[in-house]
Amino acid sequence: MAENIPLSRIEEQTVPHTPEDRSRLLVRLQEKAADLPKNRLLSRRLLEEITQNVLRELHLPETLLAWGMVFLGNFHGKPQVTAIPYSKRALLLPHCMRNKEVCPAKYDSSGLECRKCGACDLTELTVLAEQLGYRKILIAEGTPVVVQWILNGEADAILGIGCLQSLERAFEKIQWVGIPAMAVPLNFGTCVDTKVEMSLAREMIETRYVPGNAELRGHLALLRGTADMFRGPAFTQLLPRKRSEHSRFLPEMDPIQVTETLGFDYLTRGGKCFRPFVTLAVYDAMKPSASFDEIPDAVKRVAMAIEIFHKASLIHDDIEDDDPYRYGEPSLHRQFGVSTAINTGDYLLGLGYRLIAEQRNALGSGPVADILWKLGDAHAKLSEGQGAELAWRSSRVKKLEPIDVMKIYALKTSPAFEAALYAGLRMSDKTLPHVNDALAGYARAIGVAFQIKNDLADWEIHEENKRTSGGDVLGKRPTLLLALALKSLPEPEQRELLRWMETLAEAEEKRQIQGQQAVRELYVRANVFEQAGQLITKYALRADETAESISEEPLRLILFHLTDMILH
Ligand code: SF4
Repeated sequence: MAENIPLSRIEEQTVPHTPEDRSRLLVRLQEKAADLPKNRLLSRRLLEEITQNVLRELHLPETLLAWGMVFLGNFHGKPQVTAIPYSKRALLLPHCMRNKEVCPAKYDSSGLECRKCGACDLTELTVLAEQLGYRKILIAEGTPVVVQWILNGEADAILGIGCLQSLERAFEKIQWVGIPAMAVPLNFGTCVDTKVEMSLAREMIETRYVPGNAELRGHLALLRGTADMFRGPAFTQLLPRKRSEHSRFLPEMDPIQVTETLGFDYLTRGGKCFRPFVTLAVYDAMKPSASFDEIPDAVKRVAMAIEIFHKASLIHDDIEDDDPYRYGEPSLHRQFGVSTAINTGDYLLGLGYRLIAEQRNALGSGPVADILWKLGDAHAKLSEGQGAELAWRSSRVKKLEPIDVMKIYALKTSPAFEAALYAGLRMSDKTLPHVNDALAGYARAIGVAFQIKNDLADWEIHEENKRTSGGDVLGKRPTLLLALALKSLPEPEQRELLRWMETLAEAEEKRQIQGQQAVRELYVRANVFEQAGQLITKYALRADETAESISEEPLRLILFHLTDMILH
């Protein structure tokens, strides 16, 4: 029996039961990994095939497949991790390992702040990592902050401990991004008081640093390059300022410089830069470049313009919803007033269109005109979708059918995705009408799925980090959840739901919490969370089926990964 695994908690043998089995399996997997090409990413299928063969050869049960695949991947990825200094490795630890009964640690915005009380193994693991020089240690479930570390170049390798299910989910993404990674599975995935084989965890964390070259594989270079376009020298070179060198607003500055300063400052405040990444990924799929630097500046500037439009829409959205924060700072209208914020949003729209039009010599008038048309169309549709939402909010007649909401979603989100995809394709000199149609169909499906996912995320309970839920009710937004509930509930409960919608925003805090709870209960009674989940699956499948119809393989693969990135 391996240390740390109480028999009562093993329902199925997903980790080797005895140290002998474990070492036999590890030795054989290591031998197999030595025969694999070092400079290539491994496909999941290949990992699975090799591990299955090894399990058969050693007469071990198939239920060890996932565990074995993790270690085969580790042995293959280890030389890459070895080349990364400890200070540039991110260590991700699961918060379910803490001793919940006695743990004094609190959650902050980025995870659990372990107090190293010694009541669970997280003390030993964090102390070990700190002593070795790890600067990025995260005890958390989600990973947005890790994505930011990777994009910023603060982490060049990921080492993680997690349940087999979460490691499985992470595998494809890590492979696709191409960041060196290793992992150790938890001994059981019960989500509370979990344990890890400490000898394996220590060994992974202690993986030696041997100076050498770690190649960037997968899409990491593209992701980082996209984020870099909005900061530092690349930002200045690709988008020179015309009026001011000030990076932030100063009360004494020349008034003629204010708008440009506010606009440029807003562009550098944050965000995932997902849309320009989509454009560049499609371009790169159709016209591969040896490195990010080789992608023409004109192509990068068009991708930047797509992010600029997105940022402009966020400024206007924040005003319409009176959202207090954006990117961890007060929203622009809360900082500088509504008029200045509207004007800054308008400025960004002009900046984006000008930036694209300026690329006509480099890209040709035809592609530039087509891209401008597509973006103008997306912009008009976005405004129509938002307008429909605002009209519903102020209307006295509160009828709402799921089909009405779907129409709004198809206008608000899908055209922007389509424009980002289309721009990448059009700039690659490929005129492929059948692909254009497929991209439009893909964007329609993925945009709707994305919005429904947002609806659900609004109701996620984050007890640990005290995130509020039900903001859409406070904002009186016509969501799919609301439409499904109005369709399923009996009339008295429909009226109750609409009453909460009407009155919550103006109520005092205690009443708001009570109302959000009441709405949640009505939603549960109407089974809308489950219905919405089914619709996400349906639209994601539709998106992937549309992608399947594209014969150009690199583009098809990009779309499959985008589905995964957007929805998971
Ligand atoms: S070691 Fe850290 S995570 Fe574990 S119980 Fe103590 S404070 Fe909590």
